[in-house]
Amino acid sequence: MSLRRVLSDVPGAAGRSRRVGVRPLHPRAKFSETYRVAARISRASDLCEHLFVSGAPTILHADLDAFYASVEQRDDPRLRGLPVIVGAGVVLAASYEARAYGVRTAMGGARARRLCPRAVVVPPRMAAYAEASKAVYAVFEDTTPVVEGLSIDEAFLDVRGLERLAGSPVEIAVRLRHHVREQVGLPITVGIARTKFLAKVASGVAKPDGLLVVPPERELVFLHRLPVERLWGVGAVTAGKLRERGITTVGEVAGLTEGALVAMLGRASGRHLHALAHNRDPRPVQPRRRRRSIGSQHALGRTPRSLDAVDAVLIGLVDRVTRRMRTAGRVGRTVVLRLRFSDFSRATRSHTLPRATAETHIVLATARGLLAAEIPTIERRGLTLVGVAVANLEDDRAVQLTLPFDSYSGGALDTALDEVRSRFGRSAITRAVLLGRDEGLSVPLLPD
Ligand SMILES: [Mg+2]
Repeated sequence: MSLRRVLSDVPGAAGRSRRVGVRPLHPRAKFSETYRVAARISRASDLCEHLFVSGAPTILHADLDAFYASVEQRDDPRLRGLPVIVGAGVVLAASYEARAYGVRTAMGGARARRLCPRAVVVPPRMAAYAEASKAVYAVFEDTTPVVEGLSIDEAFLDVRGLERLAGSPVEIAVRLRHHVREQVGLPITVGIARTKFLAKVASGVAKPDGLLVVPPERELVFLHRLPVERLWGVGAVTAGKLRERGITTVGEVAGLTEGALVAMLGRASGRHLHALAHNRDPRPVQPRRRRRSIGSQHALGRTPRSLDAVDAVLIGLVDRVTRRMRTAGRVGRTVVLRLRFSDFSRATRSHTLPRATAETHIVLATARGLLAAEIPTIERRGLTLVGVAVANLEDDRAVQLTLPFDSYSGGALDTALDEVRSRFGRSAITRAVLLGRDEGLSVPLLPD
């Protein structure tokens, strides 16, 4: 295959989209084929390294395919090749086999089952998804220091300047996909372009289990042929407004003036779309700054709660926050309590400890002290939300070990509880006071 074909035969004016890499019909299909194509690509891109001196596509958008459903198929071989729906109520994820029947994320469960009666519906296992996400992020961080997480299953990676060390962006992407498949057992799609926006569009087009490069000279041709829904930030409402006016492709959007788009969609949306349709997206990939605080909150609604019930909520919050801190290897000195009252007024109270900690009993005692001081206000105004955060964070490795001056070995208990929860799930062990209380479904977040 000639160089020109490998690198420019991606979606082009001449016809239909073409993938660099292979798109198996479903996640377990034809892996060897990927490598054959990958080998061809890496030879070709070796030859043309000098073409990519400046303004080369170095931004990767890596996005796991049907994430929750793929984890289910990975962990239960009987589900492979079958239409799988995660979530019995609203569809949280659907495997590509289910998507073929029109099942989509966020669709009602009844409708999904009507569309695909033979779908296997499984309950979500958030702990397994959080674990898989962590493993995938480890591969990302191994690939380049410049990783910007978008959610638990997708991130931007900038591989600029890594040519000598790790090869061309295409080679890096091929390796990344291979590592995620080998080490985590999941299919991931990568789009490569000069801008974040275009890289994300490319991965969307290449899904599932694909790899797609948009060469600089093909950017506008690639973009303008796509339906408007592919533009980042165009949801059903905006797409509807555009389609009402007969605008169905990005090229047609690009043909409009910014003024016309603003008149149609409002100022923010209009400007955003105008910029994207002309491929203007100067945003760099920004590695996530480390969190400065870790917190969680719980809305209580308008029903009055007893102080015992509020205390139970506080315990649940502190448990969750300190566990996240320990998982992330962070400790903190400042405990922050946030309250919202029935009249919508708010209060924030904080207390700074003499030394940083992630121990549940210390953070809980501090939060309880802060809460106790607010009891008169709570009784007067009624409480509708409680939040707990720990700020002034540092790495736990940086903290000097202190002698256990008191006999209470909180650290050892925390460690034991963390261990049980990470092996058997978050609800495997809980405090007696929290039994029977609905903690709500907690959706996995980006790693802290
Ligand atoms: Mg995804």
